[in-house]
Amino acid sequence: MRIDLHTHTRASDGTQTAEELVRAAKAAGLDVLGLTDHDTAEAWEPAERAAEEVGIALVRGMEISTRHLGRGVHLLAYLPDPTYPPLVAQLRKILDGRSSRVPAIVERLQEAGIGIDLADVRRAAHGTAATGRPHVADALVSLGVVPDRSTAFRQYLNPGRPAYVNRYAAPLVETMRVVIESGGVTVLAHPWGRHGPDSLPPDAIAELAGLGLAGLEVDHQDHRPEDRQRLREIAETLSLVVTGSSDHHGLGKHDHELGCNTTAPDQYERLIALAEASAARSGRETPGVVG
Ligand SMILES: [Zn+2]
Ligand SMILES: [Zn+2]
Repeated sequence: MRIDLHTHTRASDGTQTAEELVRAAKAAGLDVLGLTDHDTAEAWEPAERAAEEVGIALVRGMEISTRHLGRGVHLLAYLPDPTYPPLVAQLRKILDGRSSRVPAIVERLQEAGIGIDLADVRRAAHGTAATGRPHVADALVSLGVVPDRSTAFRQYLNPGRPAYVNRYAAPLVETMRVVIESGGVTVLAHPWGRHGPDSLPPDAIAELAGLGLAGLEVDHQDHRPEDRQRLREIAETLSLVVTGSSDHHGLGKHDHELGCNTTAPDQYERLIALAEASAARSGRETPGVVG
C-alpha cells in the first residue's frame, strides 16, 4: 500500500487542478492521497469526485501557516470539519494576510525596477483564494525576470531579499486547538525542514505532543537522513504517528514527485483512528476518508 499524505493543487501553490493531481496520484501507483493545500479546503470537492472516479483513497486536509517561538511552522490538519466557524475564521485571517501582502511585494519589485503589476500575479494565480509569494514568483518567471520559482525566492522574495514583506501567521498552539475542536488531527509538516533541529527543539515538540499533536512528518525531501533518524526517535518516545510524503506541487517544486516519500500503512491506520476519535469527541460533521 503506497500512501502519500501531503500534496498541493492550484487551489494554493501547486500547478495541477484537483482532478489532475488525483489522476497523477493514481498513475504514480498511490493507494492513498492526502490533499493539503495551504490554508484552504477549496479543492476538496473536485478532488473527492475525481478520487471516486479513479478509485483512490483520499484524505482531505490542509497545511496551515502558523508561527511558534518566533518561527514559521506549517501545520497539517487532516479531516477537520471545514465549516467549523473558528477554523473558517482563522483560515480567512491567514488568506487575507497573504493576499494583502501581494500588492506590497509588487510595489517593492517595481521599486527595484522590475516591470511587474498585480494583473501579472492574478494571471499566475488562476483565481485561487490563496494568492501569495509563489504566484508572484510564477509571474516573475513568465515575465522572463528569473528562470524558475526558486530563483525568484532566492533573489527577491525570501526574508532579507528586496521584495520580502512580513505577514500574519496564526499562533500554532491556538490553531492546533481549533483543528482538534473541529474534529481533525494535527501533524507537524517538515518540522526540521528549514534549520534542522534548531527549527523546533525536541522539548518544544514534546510540549506540543502534550497539547494533542498527533504526528510528525518525518520523511520529507527537506529533511537530512540524520534528522529523519532523530525525528523518528522523538516520535517514538512521544508516541507520535510518523508520516512521510512528497509535498508535491506539480511543476511548482522540483524533486517532490508523488510518492517520493510515503507513510507506512500501520502509521496511516493510527492516524485515521486518531482522527475518528477526535471526530467523535468533537461532535462535528467531519469529512472521513473517500474510497
Ligand atoms: Zn510546508
Ligand atoms: Zn506543503
